[in-house]
Amino acid sequence: MNESYVHSFSAMGTVVSIQVVGHGANDHQRADRQSAVERATEWFLDIERTCTRFDPSSELSRLSTRVGEAVPASAMLFEAVRFALAVARESDGAFDPTMGRSMESLGFDREHRTGEPVRSAAVVATGATWRDVVVDEDDRTITVRRPLVLDLGAVAKGLAIDMAARELAPFVNFAVDAGGDLYLGGCNASGEPWSVGIRHPREPELIERVFVSDIAVCTSGDYERIGRAGGDEPGHHILDPQTRRSSAAAASVTVLAPAAMVADALATAAFVLGPARGLALLERHGVDGLIVTPDLERFTTPGMRSDYKAGHAHER
Ligand code: ADP
Ligand code: MG
Repeated sequence: MNESYVHSFSAMGTVVSIQVVGHGANDHQRADRQSAVERATEWFLDIERTCTRFDPSSELSRLSTRVGEAVPASAMLFEAVRFALAVARESDGAFDPTMGRSMESLGFDREHRTGEPVRSAAVVATGATWRDVVVDEDDRTITVRRPLVLDLGAVAKGLAIDMAARELAPFVNFAVDAGGDLYLGGCNASGEPWSVGIRHPREPELIERVFVSDIAVCTSGDYERIGRAGGDEPGHHILDPQTRRSSAAAASVTVLAPAAMVADALATAAFVLGPARGLALLERHGVDGLIVTPDLERFTTPGMRSDYKAGHAHER
């Protein structure tokens, strides 16, 4: 067994846990390991500060209020918005990072630390979508063309996981777990591929287990963060942009991809698209995944069916 170093903290509405396997043989190694974990932690806090819609002074919130202006963006905000718009395009708008106001009005309006309700000031244009946000790759600016509330809830966590994983890459064997969205580097303390259980969306048990190395595993489920969905009817936090209500196309979607930002966003997009179009989206992007429908039917990409049972990432 190889001694592990674990650091846990709260960010982005969840508990983040970072584990580095080994590298504890002497003071020098331990200091290196600790400072890498501190830098990884800082990425979560930084990206949350930049990309939260719950703080009116965040870079994201300020951008949402400067309608019609080409606003220069920080590297992280630019990357998150650029990628969110690409997924919106690829998913025919099933993924849409401009539904902040709908999220608010369905009850997803509280900052996770303070519990303070948030209401963005701007009057929102009816029918505003991701097409009303334009990025300029050369100038690195973002233009919001009509009043809307940006929400990067489905990409920011993945981006933070990826930046953290980059800091930890020199240690080879590590795990970043942000409330069930994960990146697994190398092997666990027993020298085996990481074993990841995928939660059953309805029962307190696992629906699947995969054995992986050097890959992100992200899950979007309808069983978390129950809001009001308008009025008394409860709902969950993944909205169908067409109805602006909780999507009933899936119960949970898990995606395995080389980057967590990709896995995170594609899981949300496939959730809204449902099994047939969701699987097509995953296959088109060369990633594997599992979609469980509300009546508990399972759909998987061909690679997901067998490859991940024996830690195939090691055989490549
Ligand atoms: P989790 O935050 O549990 O990992 P997801 O990755 O699926 O879940 O992200 C859900 C979040 O994404 C919501 O809280 C909201 O901020 C945002 N969101 C909801 N519906 C959509 C959608 N159709 N397209 C893009 N983002 C969405
Ligand atoms: Mg997610």
